[in-house]
Amino acid sequence: MYRKVKATLHLMNEIKVNEIFHSLQGEGYNAGISAVFLRLSGCNLNCPFCDTDHEEGEMMSEEQIVARIESIRRGAQLVVITGGEPSLWLKSSLLDAIHALDPDIRISIETNGTRPLPEGIDFVTLSPKDQFCSGAQLVLESCDELKLLYPGADPSRYSHIRAKHRFLQPCATNDMPTNRENMARTVEYVKEHPQWRLSLQIHKILDIR
Ligand code: SF4
Repeated sequence: MYRKVKATLHLMNEIKVNEIFHSLQGEGYNAGISAVFLRLSGCNLNCPFCDTDHEEGEMMSEEQIVARIESIRRGAQLVVITGGEPSLWLKSSLLDAIHALDPDIRISIETNGTRPLPEGIDFVTLSPKDQFCSGAQLVLESCDELKLLYPGADPSRYSHIRAKHRFLQPCATNDMPTNRENMARTVEYVKEHPQWRLSLQIHKILDIR
């Protein structure tokens, strides 16, 4: 009986992981910082432009995830948890275990803001997609950085969100002339609305993961 309960508890703590890798944070306030990325599978939204693989993943225990992070981080002190929508899986127990690796580790999450977040996150990147998914409702009202793809998202829609930093990121497509236009429009918007700041995907410029 005890064994069965223990096995069930173990399974309850398993998380579907799409990938774990070490790179540089490419976007936003923490751009350029050595970071381990923990990408979790699955999302509660279904944006028409989504290019994230929602289904692929391996069930891993929190212990396995933490061990993997420690084995590849080479001293990196930023762990970026992303998805999909990572709040579907995230519990404080995993965040506590990651923090226990190193007192200087900071945990950042990238979320669409439609679900509450557990305690223990040091930096919240809110990237809302509610404009693109009918029925999606934001529940987060504050964050460390608010990040929007532009053009596409209407920045004025999020003036009520309390954010330490507001970033506009030019929407990237497979068409170079469109990308140049998106960049120019983003630059013009930021020039006219200085509360916003330009974010570039430097990992793509550098051609790294
Ligand atoms: S919120 Fe992000 S991961 Fe989820 S469907 Fe939209 S673009 Fe994809």
